[in-house]
Amino acid sequence: MNFILAEEQLMYVETVQRFVREKILPQVLSLEAGHRFPRALIEEAWGLGFLNLCIPREVKDFEIDIISTALIVRELSYGDTGISTSAMCNDLANAVIAQNGSDEQKRAFLGPFVEAPLIASFCLTEPGAGSDNGAMTSFIRKRDDGKYVLNGDKCFITNASYASQFTVFCKVGKPGGVMMACVVIPAESILNAEIRPQATGGREIILREGGMIMTGKPEDKLGQRLSNTATVTFEDVVIDETQIIGNRRLGFKYAMDVLDYARPMVAAIGVGLARRALDVTLEYTKERKQFGERICDLPVARDTLVAMWKKVELADLALMKAAWKVQEKTEDRSLFASLAKNTAADAALFCTTQGLHLHGGYGFMAEYEISKLARDAHIIDIYEGVREVQDMIIGRELV
Ligand SMILES: Cc1cc2nc3c(=O)[nH]c(=O)nc-3n(C[C@H](O)[C@H](O)[C@H](O)COP(=O)(O)OP(=O)(O)OC[C@H]3O[C@@H](n4cnc5c(N)ncnc54)[C@H](O)[C@@H]3O)c2cc1C
Repeated sequence: MNFILAEEQLMYVETVQRFVREKILPQVLSLEAGHRFPRALIEEAWGLGFLNLCIPREVKDFEIDIISTALIVRELSYGDTGISTSAMCNDLANAVIAQNGSDEQKRAFLGPFVEAPLIASFCLTEPGAGSDNGAMTSFIRKRDDGKYVLNGDKCFITNASYASQFTVFCKVGKPGGVMMACVVIPAESILNAEIRPQATGGREIILREGGMIMTGKPEDKLGQRLSNTATVTFEDVVIDETQIIGNRRLGFKYAMDVLDYARPMVAAIGVGLARRALDVTLEYTKERKQFGERICDLPVARDTLVAMWKKVELADLALMKAAWKVQEKTEDRSLFASLAKNTAADAALFCTTQGLHLHGGYGFMAEYEISKLARDAHIIDIYEGVREVQDMIIGRELV
């Protein structure tokens, strides 16, 4: 075992770092202030191969392993975690298909993402079913002709306003029952040219096969303002059997499997953010002098910087271990995925709070990046399972 990156991994890291340095960081504060979805940057990231990392070799000609995926997400997140959240959401939606779809489904539902910079949504959360996904009420009812009809409301859905395809979890069998299915709904191909600069309203998508998808107005969020989040309503959407992924009763298992894959990626988002907070704070405290000394040389402030560095490095270790466990499909991968997510969220929250504090009053000003990072950090501890849910998983595995 060693911690030396393979040549290919180094190349990924350096390419993303260059993209972040040249394309994201110089404009991140102005983009974020405009609360605008950075579609052009996402397209550029697609062109460089940073999107759709989970698409398998049989569809894309090449494959990116989980550790490399975590490295790419971590480096992209150093630039902006809204952008990396939107980019990663394609993988969240598409990993279910890659992991459980038939060859035909992989070609049909993943192929378009290789051909064009399309965006996908992963629809699990509902207004009454957040941490407790099993309480969802979205339902597919079987018709006499063998097709199904989907009705339901989803909330907090990343990329919803721009998605060309929706991966949706819903109940099947009896409404209120326990069986869950996973269905894929290709909606419409949305490319940059067809998008208004800022989607301020909702979308109504009339589906050729029957039914309608409605997305709400993009949510006005505390942070991660460069990712898009909206509600999605499915009204009498006709679902063919070919749109049901794998076994139609195993949706819950598929959702849990994909979260095992995705939690290290959220950890990667947290580590990237925490490292950025450390770096901007180091830069600031090396510049600013008080009591005749650089702030970074004042002993108590130095201790805070050391504590921040430790959090970043430990979270990075937890991330790499979880990515390795998920890559090797070890029995205890859920345990380590949850550990990495919690450790990275803690690092992001700690480093942004302490980093803002070390900026003094300037840290409270919007023109200092640390104030944006502090807003962005909170969601790491919430999406893809709140901290307590990760602890529940860890506790369950332990005993
Ligand atoms: C910006 C953003 C993007 C998102 N993107 C997506 C997406 O693309 N797709 C998707 O499906 N969902 C998405 N989500 C939803 C996200 O995963 C949920 O918000 C999250 O799982 C928590 O659910 P909830 O908000 O309903 O909180 P709740 O489940 O209501 O929890 C609220 C609080 O209750 C406490 N709590 C909950 N459960 C427990 C427990 N078991 N033990 C102890 N305390 C507990 C915790 O303190 C928790 O923070 C997104 C959310 C946001 C904000």
